[in-house]
Amino acid sequence: MSGIVIEGGRLIDPAAGIDDARDLWIDAGVVRAVEAPGALRGVEAERRIAAAGAWVAPGFVDLHCHLREPGYEYKETVATGVASAVAGGFTGVACMANTNPVNDSSAVTRFILERAAQANLARVYPIGALSHGLKGERLAEIGEMRAAGIVAVSDDGKPVADASLMRRALEYCRMFDIPVIDHAEDPGLFAGGCMHEGRTSLRLGLKGIPSACEEIMVARDIRLVELTGGRLHVAHVSTRGSVDLVRDAKRRGVRVTAEATPHHLTLTDEAVAQYDGNAKMNPPLRLDDDREALCAGLADGTIDAIATDHAPHHRDEKAIEFEHAAFGIVGFETALPLSLRLVERRVLSAIECIRRLSTRPAEILGVDGGTLQVGRTADVVVIDPHAEWGVEIAGLRSKSKNSPFLGWTMKGRAVATIVGGRVVHEGVAR
Ligand SMILES: [Zn+2]
Repeated sequence: MSGIVIEGGRLIDPAAGIDDARDLWIDAGVVRAVEAPGALRGVEAERRIAAAGAWVAPGFVDLHCHLREPGYEYKETVATGVASAVAGGFTGVACMANTNPVNDSSAVTRFILERAAQANLARVYPIGALSHGLKGERLAEIGEMRAAGIVAVSDDGKPVADASLMRRALEYCRMFDIPVIDHAEDPGLFAGGCMHEGRTSLRLGLKGIPSACEEIMVARDIRLVELTGGRLHVAHVSTRGSVDLVRDAKRRGVRVTAEATPHHLTLTDEAVAQYDGNAKMNPPLRLDDDREALCAGLADGTIDAIATDHAPHHRDEKAIEFEHAAFGIVGFETALPLSLRLVERRVLSAIECIRRLSTRPAEILGVDGGTLQVGRTADVVVIDPHAEWGVEIAGLRSKSKNSPFLGWTMKGRAVATIVGGRVVHEGVAR
């Protein structure tokens, strides 16, 4: 007897074009069989999971998170981060380099991977710094880090102000065929801003960050991709103008991909009205018109993926004057229900929703996962799309609780998360 049979579910595999009733048998870490309902009844599995009413999908892959270790263990550790990730249905997460020390060398990359192996929950894909120390001056040890396991490079958290450095990164990364992930922000336009620049920032008396702050850099970096033939992935797209720039570039065949976060697809700058530090993030929440443009971009494929930008912060860094609060929110555990709202609103079909949470991010990072085809790695999420739950501080697995969705009632949750054929998370019984 071996393996797990998941039966009676609606199996959604974008890569195979399946959205239908199927039973799944996983064994020895890989998908052994995908069969019509009942066809696996004779299999002597170690375990059977009844999935009637549930979706069975490839585990989610997050293109963008901050696990905070090394250096900021009071916010999150690799272990608490991946516990939060698997609770949200993620089987793999790519973590940004703005740790302390910065992940700009193979020693730090290896340290993160060691921590991930000890935690043994979600797969962790380190993203290497683009520049040494995130200082924006000279390239980090990209080749050495690639050999140690990085999947992309980025100075995320900070923009690359020097266009010639960005050019060299795009050129150099062509050798490894890995993407350069773009935190698109013009430093001059950003300076001192803490929310979207517009009527709400005026009313609240807070210094704004104009949409142009992002769009100028998206436009610049698309030009640099055209110059170099490199691969650019635009992180956390937040404005209508950026969506238009990426759409236009894709039409011209430029190698650019893009992500949007669940919070930018859900909230607007009005969420800042109560000066709630948990509504402060970078890029900032923007207007309803921008949110609509992100949804349209997601629907037509301009925005390839949904990424969390999971950014844990201690309570003391948030419960202060809005101007001084840290940027960012936790995101692993609310990403699925917020994405399912897009399905309910018919922005995405169910299969497209899974594609944007799993298949596309895996493709962009060039990592395993994102499909349930026979022979492939058994990274699986079983989703109850109807389960209602309240977002509460006590319920969140992340070490930090900085979410603007505290107090919200969510619909949809991961009831089982399986990594390499091993159940690493089980939710409350339905
Ligand atoms: Zn960023």
